[in-house]
Amino acid sequence: FAQRVSRFGTTVFSEFSALAAKHGAVNLGQGFPDFDGPDAVKEAAQRAIRDGVNQYAMGMGAKDLRLAIAEHSQRFYGQQVDPDSMVTVTSGATEAIFDVLLGLVDPGDEVVAFEPFYDSYDANITFIGATARYVPLRPPDATHAEWWFDRDEVRAAFGPRTRLLILNSPHNPTGKVFTREELEFLGGLCAEFDVKVLSDEVYEHIVFAPARHLRPATLPGLAERTVTVSSGGKTFSLTGWKVGWIIAPPPLRDAVQRAHQFVTFATASPLQAAMAAALRLPDAYYAELAAMYAAKRERLLGGLRDAGLTAFAPQGSYFILADIAKYGFPDDIAFCRHLVSEVGVAAIPPSVFYGPEHRHLGQKLARFAFCKTDAVLDEAVRRLRAKL
Ligand code: PMP
Ligand code: GLN
Repeated sequence: FAQRVSRFGTTVFSEFSALAAKHGAVNLGQGFPDFDGPDAVKEAAQRAIRDGVNQYAMGMGAKDLRLAIAEHSQRFYGQQVDPDSMVTVTSGATEAIFDVLLGLVDPGDEVVAFEPFYDSYDANITFIGATARYVPLRPPDATHAEWWFDRDEVRAAFGPRTRLLILNSPHNPTGKVFTREELEFLGGLCAEFDVKVLSDEVYEHIVFAPARHLRPATLPGLAERTVTVSSGGKTFSLTGWKVGWIIAPPPLRDAVQRAHQFVTFATASPLQAAMAAALRLPDAYYAELAAMYAAKRERLLGGLRDAGLTAFAPQGSYFILADIAKYGFPDDIAFCRHLVSEVGVAAIPPSVFYGPEHRHLGQKLARFAFCKTDAVLDEAVRRLRAKL
């Protein structure tokens, strides 16, 4: 093994999906819907394949998809996006994140991100030889209604070597939706230290009122320094398609594009054609998606609480974190192994989303996904109530 991969095992998602299959457990672990996206979008992909959209797409992305991304940005955020100079289509948000780091961050630079973090951030920071500076999000308490961060801790993480701040709102796995005030504070720090922002918004359409998703790139002072990353996986329940994109001002887009052209060059062309159709679905589609997930959130939240778990209500995303400290396991991994083999429910141990310094914070938590059919959520709750 090369040094850059030698410390990695299998990802926690693959590990717990395999354990779920082995034990016949209900899988609330890896975050993928157990139902498919809209028929019209699946048919658009089939049509594209039949109609001969099967050779390489343009490297920066098919023209029509870039146009649809620009229209979507205007429709939902009033953001003006030039499809030719501000967009690159990637193979999922996962590739986009890697391209942004490759394009904007040098070895030895520092990257600030919040814990718990999506696991590819940490691995990708390692790949490029940069250093991560993590700031923990803290759970709701007597003075904070939602997950929060200590402003002094964030400020202390910034320094002369900081090149990038990674934001993720709605946040996986806490479900936190960052407020305008929080984003303005973070934007102010980025301006002061001349830091760029990677804004991971893959859960942009899974938000529960009164929370509202704000696109950081539309806030004053952030527009010129922010690379927005999103993908169609969660919004259209098509996580296997891996169609993502970045939106950024031309100089930042060019930096990311230079990396993208030698990482994958281009993304699957028929799926790009279908993703353009998906993004153009009427407002009602997006409203129904959010309403469906609001109902599933209530269903699982109520069920977890009935089963005795202390569960935090997410403002967005399709994940619920629960406090598991009272069950007396040595850590979250032991708890989740017990859960999958003895209770028959798979969840994700969030300590893998922390660096060594704050790992203990994750060891008290478990993550449950509610992007599942109601029957599956109910069966998970039945097992938890019976056996936990
Ligand atoms: N960022 C976050 C926060 C995620 O949860 C995920 C999906 N698990 C991704 C990025 C990756 O998205 P994609 O499947 O489009 O690569
Ligand atoms: N993003 C999904 C999750 O957080 C899984 C992605 C993956 O399997 N790499 O569960």
